[in-house]
Amino acid sequence: MRFDLHSHSTASDGHLSPSDLVRRAAQMQVDVLALTDHDTLAGLEEARATMANENLPLRLIAGCELSTTWQNHEIHIVGLGVNTDEPTLRAFLTAQSARRRARAEEIGARLSKHNLPDTYPRAQALAGEGAVTRAHFARVLVELGAAPSLAQVFKKYLSRGNPGYVPPVWPEMDCTIAAIQAAGGVAVLAHASRYDLSTKWVKRLIGAFKAAGGQAMEVSLSQQTPVERANLGQWASEHDLAISVGSDFHFIAQWTELGRHLWLPKQGEPVWLRYPQAFALSASEITALTASR
Ligand code: AMP
Ligand code: MN
Ligand code: MN
Ligand code: MN
Repeated sequence: MRFDLHSHSTASDGHLSPSDLVRRAAQMQVDVLALTDHDTLAGLEEARATMANENLPLRLIAGCELSTTWQNHEIHIVGLGVNTDEPTLRAFLTAQSARRRARAEEIGARLSKHNLPDTYPRAQALAGEGAVTRAHFARVLVELGAAPSLAQVFKKYLSRGNPGYVPPVWPEMDCTIAAIQAAGGVAVLAHASRYDLSTKWVKRLIGAFKAAGGQAMEVSLSQQTPVERANLGQWASEHDLAISVGSDFHFIAQWTELGRHLWLPKQGEPVWLRYPQAFALSASEITALTASR
């Protein structure tokens, strides 16, 4: 079975609508897809409806990617298999949206002082009904010619120490993990190797995540070297965290695709086998998946 447990739609900073995302996942022969938009569950209803209407051969896991603060760094925690009606998580997400809005206004204000006016309304227009992220600001800044590429915009404007940077506004990891677990979800540390932290600090982060109640971490990511994957696998096993796999898909491009270029190491326990209830796996599926490991 092909799993991809980290993806985005237009409900946050993905480029495909939830409907097009599930269509694409089915086309790419993904069996189990988690939709994990930034700080929102808003895309799930449309994704579910399209799957049902079009009878897509795909299982959809309700998820979200929550922004959290650790040691003044912005860290992302993916929640998988959440009950989307559960009030604690819903209240948490309402508060996250308010924080996201205030932060986006502040990013816009800081960029205005740097002679880049009106970026917030433009980012809002790109986001539509969805959550405004730095990725939307990055697209606006590229349109304005402030830098040639998204990566350059992040480097020059949106990352720490630069004009549009706003220090983290998010809750601590323990609150975030608790909100996911209140809704019956599994808390997964996202892309631990991609935070601009030294190895020493990444290991500290993983330890802190485990101590805060975290259950799994992403080990297989897209555009990954075998060394990166091996390190993540090693750190997961040192902290007895289950291992997860996710493309962090935002749009179709040469090196980013749903369910592709993802290899789960033999070592470690897949998150769907340690927490099968969050994935609605049947006993026979669990047996088959265990046997194929
Ligand atoms: P936010 O959650 O508002 O901080 O926005 C973070 C999002 O910006 C990430 O999920 C990516 O989609 C995007 N992003 C972050 N860093 C980069 C980068 N260097 N190049 C392109 N996109 C990035
Ligand atoms: Mn994103
Ligand atoms: Mn992320
Ligand atoms: Mn993501």
